[in-house]
Formats: sequence, C-alpha cells, structure tokens
Amino acid sequence: MIKGHENFELYNPVRVVYKKGGLENSREISGFSNVLVICDPYVSQSEYFKRAMSKYDSFFVFDKILPNPPCEMVDDIISITCDYTSGKFNFDGVIGIGGGSTLDTAKAVSSLIVSRGKLSEYLEGKKKLENRLPLMLVPTTSGTGSEVTNVGVYTVNGIKKPMTSKTFWADIALVDPVLTYSMPHRVAGTTGLDALTHAIESYWATSTQPYTEGLALRAMKMIFENFKPSLNGEEWARDEMAIAATIAGIAFSQTRTTAAHAISFPITSFYNVEHGLACALTLPSLIMWTYKHVKEKMDELIQYLSLKNIDELAKKVEELIEFAGFSTRLRDYGVKEEELENIAKVSMEARIIDLTPGQPRYEDVLEILNQIY
Ligand code: NAD
Repeated sequence: MIKGHENFELYNPVRVVYKKGGLENSREISGFSNVLVICDPYVSQSEYFKRAMSKYDSFFVFDKILPNPPCEMVDDIISITCDYTSGKFNFDGVIGIGGGSTLDTAKAVSSLIVSRGKLSEYLEGKKKLENRLPLMLVPTTSGTGSEVTNVGVYTVNGIKKPMTSKTFWADIALVDPVLTYSMPHRVAGTTGLDALTHAIESYWATSTQPYTEGLALRAMKMIFENFKPSLNGEEWARDEMAIAATIAGIAFSQTRTTAAHAISFPITSFYNVEHGLACALTLPSLIMWTYKHVKEKMDELIQYLSLKNIDELAKKVEELIEFAGFSTRLRDYGVKEEELENIAKVSMEARIIDLTPGQPRYEDVLEILNQIY
C-alpha cells in the first residue's frame, strides 16, 4: 500500500464519448452546424469522412497538416479561414480529426480565431489565450491523448515546445476506434509506445495522486495486453488501445509527464524520431533509475502487472519497442556519441523534468543517454 498522498486537485472538463462508428453521428454529438475541419489528408479522402460531413450545413476542410506542427502552419490556417479585419468567421465549431499533430493544430486554430495574433506570441508567453470556438477532437491514433489534455506541442525555431492553455481543453473528445484501423504498423507502434509512456510517467510523477494512479495502472495493463495484437491489425485490440490511450491522456492531463518526454523533445527535433518512439527509448533506463526513488510505488505496479521484479518491467518495455520493429539504441537513429551532451542540455530546459522522482540532474540524463547509446 502507498501511504502519505499529498493534497491534490482533479480538473478535466472534456466530455469523452467513446463510440464505435461515432464519426457518422458527430453532428448530433457535437451540435455543430457550420464547421472548420482540420484533418489529416488520408481522412479527408475517405468515404467514411465524406458521409459524416454530408450531415453538416456547411464545412471547410484544411488537410495539409505537417507533423510536429510549426507555429507558421497554424498562422497560415488562420489567414486562410478567417478575416481578422472584418472579425468574421463562418463557423460555429472546429473539429480536429487525426493524430496528435492535427489535434494540437485544431486546438491552436480554434483559440487563435477568437484570441487573434500569432501562435508564437502565446508560446513565448507574451500573450495569454482567453477564448476559443467550440471544439471537438477526434483522434485517429491511439497515443497522444491530446483529445483530453490542455496541452499543445508546436515547433518554433526548429525546436518542439509544449504549452498549456485553458482554451486547449476541448468540449468533446469523440473516440471512434474505427478511425484507428487504418494506422500502418509503424504508426500503431510509435503511438502505442507514446500511450504507454504517458501511463508510466503519470504513475511515477511527483505530481501523482490517487485518481490518476488508478487511471494510469488501468491504461498500462490494457496497453501491455493489447499492444501486440493491435500491431498485428486485430480490430478488437485497436478498440482497447483507443480507450487506453484516452485514459492515459486523462491521467497525464493532471500530473504532466516527466523525463522521458523532456528527453524526447531534442531527439525528435534533431533526429526526426517519431514522438512516441523518442519517448519510449529512455523508458527502460528511466524505469531502473526511478526505482531507486519510488521503490514502494513501483513494487505495487509490478504486483499489479503480475511481474517478478523491476528488471522484468524494463525488459517488457524494451521487448515492445523491438516487437514494433524499432532499435532500442540511440546510435541507430543517426545520433553521434559527441552529441549526447547537447541532447542532455536541451532536455534539461523542459520544466517537466523536475516532475521525475529523484529529479535527475544533467549528469543523470547524460548517463541515461549513454546507457542507451
Ligand atoms: P502524427 O499526428 O504526427 O501522425 C503521424 C502520421 O500518422 C501522419 O502521417 C498521419 O497522417 C498518420 N496517421 C495518423 N492516424 C492515421 C490513421 N488512422 N491511418 C493512417 N495514417 C494515420 O502522430 P501522433 O503520434 O499521433 O502525434 C504526435 C504529435 O502529438 C507530436 O507533435 C507530439 O508532440 C504531440 N503530442 C501532443 C500531446 C498533447 O497532449 N497535446 C501529447 C503527446 C504528443
């Protein structure tokens, strides 16, 4: 039993609707009539999407989404869809349908249409987003949990930066697992690893609390059970992964993430490694590192997952990375040994690193990077 929880708060205003085939009923679910749709290109081409959109009075689609959304792309969408000078826009709602890159873009667009200005001004903290258009987010990957968080991650000057805003809580997260069936093996792998990282990091974060521990434990179990069949294309397992990713998202929406995410930012920005994979690479080493600081808590996790010891948990994560077809060594992603110091330095700039149990210093991060080099 874990003893001695601190005081805590729980706040997540997002209405979550899990509905297989729900996209077709999205008009009734959202109550929107004239919508701005931000989606991935393969979504806008599908018959499923066209059937769903035919139920709206009007819709405008932007589908040229870049991964790790650059601030400039968000600004461009605003200039295409909205005339600031007249203050006019013709939408009563924004719908984001896609992976995390698309959902984060939809969050920023729905906010900037109303709050005005350039996204970088908000990302740099010069201004605060105050309002947004009604927003529904529909994930097509089972990873980021963006549909239930108040986080958006954007690229500015070549580096990914997370920001939080009260306007980034969506009104509705519509989780329709049918949309995830088309995920290629690689996307299912990287995004599934992202969800696993969220669950594990939320569980051990110093900001943890009993509500989120329960969510994180449940999500981890579901991911360990369904990751492999989901990669093999089993639809029932994809359904479970869609639920697990959203649950993990709710968990880390309260606690935030920790060192694995902090270290992932330079790995993705400098070496183009997909977000979820970049997060998972340090996870086995971090599991061993954090064990020294939250042994009792991790022992409870090991027991819950019916594992023998902490080594088995670290191995299990490594095995999933390899099952998805990825190397667990940094050198295989084009990283040079002499670049590890810079990766460690940039990782330390992400404030979430302080939420890691034991609060790793620069030297600790460098050691972890060396272990997986
Ligand atoms: P992604 O959105 O970048 O998509 C990756 C690729 O998969 C794209 O080419 C996309 O078109 C394709 N794809 C997505 N769904 C598909 C489907 N069903 N079928 C076929 N192809 C599909 O990847 P992601 O991992 O979902 O999102 C990563 C982004 O989310 C990163 O920028 C990351 O930093 C961010 N993120 C945000 C949060 C948050 O809380 N806001 C949390 C974690 C990560």
